[in-house]
Amino acid sequence: MDKNFDYDYVIIGSGFGGSVSALRLSEKGYKVLVIEKGRWFKDNDLPKTNWNLRKWLWFPKIFFFGIQNVAFFKHATILNGIGVGGGSLVYANTLPKPKTPFFNHGSWAKLADWESELEPFYETAWKMLGAVENPYLGESDKQFQKLAKDIGKENSFYPTKVSIYFGEKDVTVTDPYFKGEGPDRTGCVLCGSCMTGCRHNAKNTLDKNYLHLAQKKGAKIISEHEVIDVLPINKEDGSEGYTLTFKKTASLFGKKQSIKTKGVIFSGGVLGTIPLLLKLKRASLPNISARLGEMVRTNNEALIMNVSLDKDKDMSDGIAIGSMIELDENSHIEPVRYGNGSGFWRASAFPMVSEKNWFKRMIKLLILPFTDPIKWLKVFFVKDFAKSTSVILFMQHLDSTLKLKKGLLGMKSEIVKGETPSAFIPEAHDIAKKYSKQINGKSLVLSLETILGTPSTAHILGGAVMGENTEQGVIDKNNKVFAYENMFVCDGSFISANPGVNPALSITAIAERAMSKIPKKSEA
Ligand SMILES: Cc1cc2nc3c(=O)[nH]c(=O)nc-3n(C[C@H](O)[C@H](O)[C@H](O)COP(=O)(O)OP(=O)(O)OC[C@H]3O[C@@H](n4cnc5c(N)ncnc54)[C@H](O)[C@@H]3O)c2cc1C
Ligand code: SF4
Repeated sequence: MDKNFDYDYVIIGSGFGGSVSALRLSEKGYKVLVIEKGRWFKDNDLPKTNWNLRKWLWFPKIFFFGIQNVAFFKHATILNGIGVGGGSLVYANTLPKPKTPFFNHGSWAKLADWESELEPFYETAWKMLGAVENPYLGESDKQFQKLAKDIGKENSFYPTKVSIYFGEKDVTVTDPYFKGEGPDRTGCVLCGSCMTGCRHNAKNTLDKNYLHLAQKKGAKIISEHEVIDVLPINKEDGSEGYTLTFKKTASLFGKKQSIKTKGVIFSGGVLGTIPLLLKLKRASLPNISARLGEMVRTNNEALIMNVSLDKDKDMSDGIAIGSMIELDENSHIEPVRYGNGSGFWRASAFPMVSEKNWFKRMIKLLILPFTDPIKWLKVFFVKDFAKSTSVILFMQHLDSTLKLKKGLLGMKSEIVKGETPSAFIPEAHDIAKKYSKQINGKSLVLSLETILGTPSTAHILGGAVMGENTEQGVIDKNNKVFAYENMFVCDGSFISANPGVNPALSITAIAERAMSKIPKKSEA
């Protein structure tokens, strides 16, 4: 360890990219520090339902230090996870590999033969995250299977590959994944609560694999602290290291701390890394590419809540996402569920209306409840919203982009050119209408979609994409930031095309590849 530095690498954020980086750099002999702005949760600290807003939501201004952040932009409502383990704390464990078009589109397309080069890293990612095929189909999966049959897609229905330990229900065993080096695991009880955090020690969150092993190799993790500055020492390209400043999260008066590090990995997720880098570009890191904040993608996504009025259907039975249908060559759908009692989203739900034109949409919204008044009334007053609701998560690899930039009152979104994310994807609305009819219910969306036409996504990606040079991207094909030494972006911001499926596996695999390119400390 160079005596001028406190650490070889500091990793900003502990989600998928950050956790991979922490383990692989520690294994290579580097002294690593991970700084995470969210809390470090024990299983019992996680909320029982999403009505426990203080433990579920991340809204530090009013002292809500939970795992779920919701960010509102003009062109997208974005959901992301916060805490030690990042998005793995709230995610629905689903780990599909994208189809070929993902590897051949966007600013990274010509930089490598991605599909074949990443193949072994996808295998490693599945293994490390403990992915297996879901062995149990709950009610909404069975309904999806029926839907697939009805639309002639029987052969495109699959159980999901998920990062859950399916041992004997509620029985704890010594680590089944890492030859005893990992923590004890407990068999999944199929409670459907994965997205409010698993209180049963069955979900393979990052603190139970990558981060656990990284700590064993010497990595240090500081939680509830936020990185606010990264300043090159002596030379502007950072070749002599960086002074990194951080402070207690959400504290106005907390003392700032500074450390010296040879290298930095930005792993704050799109909503952490992009705002931080945009701020730093104005002062400490002015040579970052002008592409920063551009080519942000939403996975061309739609989230549609389908509420059933059949009392015998328990949609919350099973894991959060137990199955999927490949709808067509571009589109993919999954039924998503919350656990019993987690009905928070009812408070912000409006009927789904497909009209793109605002006036037509408002008229339709006013008329709609009168077309089937009793049913609409019942839908909004079902006893347990989570038990009655099966959310369709619709994703497409077709391209649509946004730009994130600094505004007067914080971050804002902007449309640059080309296709943009839409709240009215016809294929998504069509399948939701079919599905809600099948389950004797109605389709709802977040109110902002109906009122303002703002789409929602749990898969925000891009903003620091790969390119051949600084004119085309922010990082090179090995994730190194152009114009800076020993500085990398390793999180969803590097995703350079719409995967069209849940992205955490791809983030993990690409981060594994990036870390494999960094030499061992003894050889550096
Ligand atoms: C409800 C929900 C369900 C989902 N389900 C799935 C699923 O089933 N499958 C799937 O593939 N994906 C799913 N996702 C998406 C997945 O969670 C994200 O794509 C993934 O977590 C992104 O990983 P990342 O490496 O970019 O960073 P993240 O996981 O977003 O982690 C970044 C971390 O950095 C921290 N941070 C940010 N800024 C700073 C700073 N300045 N200083 C210190 N720390 C900082 C944050 O607090 C956060 O913990 C879901 C998302 C949500 C919200
Ligand atoms: S279904 Fe329940 S027990 Fe199983 S992983 Fe999800 S939260 Fe944990």
